[in-house]
Amino acid sequence: MYKTITATILCLLLTNSIFVYSQVADKYYLLKATQFYDSEKNVFIKDQEVLIKNNLVVDVGNQLTLPPNTEVFDFGNATITPGLIDAHTHILLDQKIDHPLAVDAMLVSPEARVLRAAKFARSYLDAGFTTIRDLGNSGQYLDIEVRNAINKKYISGPRLLVSGPVIGSMDGQIDGIPLADFDRVSRQENSMVSGVEEAKKAVREHIARGVDVIKILAIGNRLVLSLDEMKAIVETAHSERIKVTAHCDRDWAAQNAIEAGVDGIEHAYGFKEATLQKMVKKGIYVVPTYGSTHTIRQYLKLQNQSYTEEDLENNAASWKEWIRELKAAGVTIVAGSDAYVDLETSRGESAKQTIWGYADAGLSPEDVLQTATINAATALDMKDRIGVIKENAFADIVVFEGDMKTDIKKSLFEVKMVMKNGEIEVIK
Ligand SMILES: [Zn+2]
Repeated sequence: MYKTITATILCLLLTNSIFVYSQVADKYYLLKATQFYDSEKNVFIKDQEVLIKNNLVVDVGNQLTLPPNTEVFDFGNATITPGLIDAHTHILLDQKIDHPLAVDAMLVSPEARVLRAAKFARSYLDAGFTTIRDLGNSGQYLDIEVRNAINKKYISGPRLLVSGPVIGSMDGQIDGIPLADFDRVSRQENSMVSGVEEAKKAVREHIARGVDVIKILAIGNRLVLSLDEMKAIVETAHSERIKVTAHCDRDWAAQNAIEAGVDGIEHAYGFKEATLQKMVKKGIYVVPTYGSTHTIRQYLKLQNQSYTEEDLENNAASWKEWIRELKAAGVTIVAGSDAYVDLETSRGESAKQTIWGYADAGLSPEDVLQTATINAATALDMKDRIGVIKENAFADIVVFEGDMKTDIKKSLFEVKMVMKNGEIEVIK
């Protein structure tokens, strides 16, 4: 009896292994189009072909030699770019236009937030984003659950890198919490620390649970992390090879974050030239989370406010000027939408307004794409793997209709194909 069972198991194992071998034949794709964006050289190149083997790019060039059974896609008048990256988003949050931030976090259950996040994640893929970085306001590690569900293919979405709860001082970042609920909701959405030891412990807890990046509040609603606390956070994270990015929207509050050695700064509104130069010197990137004129229009419409096109342009003018100032200062700009408000449109499309906004501010098509590809990949500590189409990079690729070099504002919204990790997720 025992021998029979053993023989049966062996036989099954053998059958299974033959079966598995027959399933793992290499899959080849060749993608070609009239325009190709090279993010490393920051140039467009005509008539390139991209050869993909399983989940990796294996060659880029002209008239490549194709292995047998290669599936060829000739997209004609179109542009091939690396998959877009949104380095700052919040897919566990969906603030209604006239609610304070606290309402969503207080009233929507963790289960409902996760299910909703699955929808937002898919919308990012549809819009051409193959990687997004979620930076907090995700309850206690709900972002990790969503990331793992995508990795296990329970749901489809872009690569997701997550921060877990944002580490800040004792006030956190959620506005509008009734005093009676302050402690519960703040602790649900943030890691509030006081002192160097608590700061170190929070970083270790985050890393133990599996975060990809540490996000801190250089300044929260009112309170700042001290220089010593931020130094402790950065040193602890870096010793575990994890990067740190800081929410900071005031120039004075950025000084300690820069001195503490953070890797990036989110928002950076109104930073002075001298501060930007300090960042350039230390190689600190900035994620300017601005939408576009269209985003402002959606806000005003949903708030039932009247406006003229001139109002919109006036409103957007200072933002556009600011993007140009960042560019002129030479600081590395990384695309990030900070999309967390329900604008009654697809979350992915809504996030793409940030990239459109950079183009509208006057950045060249090459520079715009660089913010959402190689610059973002470097910020996410994934340089050479994503944000670039070259040998051994993950096959994260988007094909847009038309020529992005001549009409990025139109082309950006006409996605023809999205490939993530060698798998076609969208094809039109
Ligand atoms: Zn944010």
